[in-house]
Amino acid sequence: MEKHSSTHERFIETANSGKILANKCKNCGKIMLETMYYCSQCSRSNFEFIEFPGVGTVVTHTIQSVAPEGFDDVKSYAWVVFKLKDAPISASGFLPGIKTPADLPIGSTVRVKGYDAKHGLTLEKLEKQAD
Ligand SMILES: [Zn+2]
Repeated sequence: MEKHSSTHERFIETANSGKILANKCKNCGKIMLETMYYCSQCSRSNFEFIEFPGVGTVVTHTIQSVAPEGFDDVKSYAWVVFKLKDAPISASGFLPGIKTPADLPIGSTVRVKGYDAKHGLTLEKLEKQAD
């Protein structure tokens, strides 16, 4: 029997294919993350799903070198806020293996790698492209 997947499950499936699921307001066209229940612009809740490539640039990040409880499997990591390249939204995710700010300069390109049940969006750093 086919199980109806919730929006959150659909977000996870989308993330596991390297993409970000967002909502587009049918009333005013504003694009938001799927975690929003009401349009931040017109307060309606009539959305359609829209998928974007999960590639973006790092806006800010917080490095945790001493992992809090529950994160002891990953040692050091960064919580990264990144702005999607092809959408006017930002998302946040988890990037393991980052120890110092030099490991992840602001403006670096990151990509959604998948969704971890414990940590949320998992990211990977893309090699810097030659200009
Ligand atoms: Zn709206």
